[in-house]
Formats: sequence, structure tokens, C-alpha cells
Amino acid sequence: MKRLVFATNNAHKLEEIRQLIPEHYQVRSLNDIGCDVDIPETGTTLEANAAQKSHYIWENYAINCFADDTGLEIEALNNEPGVYSARYAGEERSALANMKKVLDLMEHQSNREARFRTVISLILDGVEHQFEGVVEGTISTQMTGSSGFGYDPIFVPDGYSRSFAEMSAAEKNQVSHRGRAVEKLIHFLQNR
Ligand code: IMP
Repeated sequence: MKRLVFATNNAHKLEEIRQLIPEHYQVRSLNDIGCDVDIPETGTTLEANAAQKSHYIWENYAINCFADDTGLEIEALNNEPGVYSARYAGEERSALANMKKVLDLMEHQSNREARFRTVISLILDGVEHQFEGVVEGTISTQMTGSSGFGYDPIFVPDGYSRSFAEMSAAEKNQVSHRGRAVEKLIHFLQNR
């Protein structure tokens, strides 16, 4: 059995990954390896932040690992909030305040194109590999739906007329940024 640490303590993400990853990999969380620090995320890109987290684990624990970072990129806002998605409206990381800020900034915008982008940084035996997942869509004019998290109530993926927050988790995973990045990671691991 090969051990792989996922640099997260988000139980939801961990469970999702455990169900998808090939059986000969045992996925551990940060808690499982006794890492209770808030790993720094000081990069200015998703790529840099994901790499910062995976390198932190490799350098301190010398264990094969991966980390992810996600951002919402809105064309009319110069691809903001991007890497600052979690704390766009302030340090309290309020999803509601973040969405309100976006809707206010977008009030008179006709270009509502946006994308969610996830970058996964995997380190195997000291060598880094990155995988990207993207879903294109539009920012709606109001919040709809109550499932999911973050910006889900204001993001409508292309090809749908409902927001991510109006979809089941399974339906969202099929088209989502994270689902697509994880698919590439799994494909890579299966072929090793
Ligand atoms: P993280 O890198 O996965 O922690 O994501 C950073 C931030 O992006 C989160 O705090 C959310 O605000 C937003 N975000 C990430 N993934 C999603 C998603 O699937 N739906 C809505 N918002 C998301």
C-alpha cells in the first residue's frame, strides 16, 4: 500500500478523494500525520499556493503528498477574486459577504463570464507534478440555491440554467473544476 498525504483537514474533500483514488493508495490527512500548523499560502497564483503547501509537507515530513488551491476568476474584474477567493471581503472568510461584494462590483457589468480553476500539486519522491481543472460559466445577478459552499449560489456553469448551489453534489462533481483536476490526478496515479 502506498501512502499519500492530502494537505487538508477538510473532511468533505478528504472523503471525496478517498473514494476516487486507486485502492493501492492510502490517503492520509494532515491530522493523521500530526501536522496541526496552518500551512502558509502566501503565493500570488493558485499554482504557487498549491506548490507551497505540497512542498511544506515534503520538506518537513518527507512523505509523498498533494495539495490543492482553487479560485473564482471573473473576466470583468481582471480575474479577481482568484487566489484571494476565500477572503475577498475580509479575513472572516464569509461566503455571504464575498458573494455580496462580487454582486455589487458586477451590478452594471454586461460581461458576466467567469471560471472556477483548481490546481493540484502532487509530489512523488521529491518530484512535483501539477494538474489543472477548469469549469467555465457566468455570474448570476442574484443568489440561488442552498447546497454546496463558497460562491456556488452565484455561479452558473455553461450548459446549465441552474447555479452550482441548485445541483446535487454528484451533479456538480461531474462538471466541476475540482472534479476535473482530481480526474487528471487519478489518471496519472493509475498509470504509475
Ligand atoms: P480552496 O482553495 O479549495 O480552499 O478554495 C478557496 C476559496 O474558493 C473557498 O474558500 C471558496 O470561497 C472558493 N471555492 C473553492 N471551491 C469552490 C466551489 O466548488 N464552489 C464555490 N466556491 C468555491
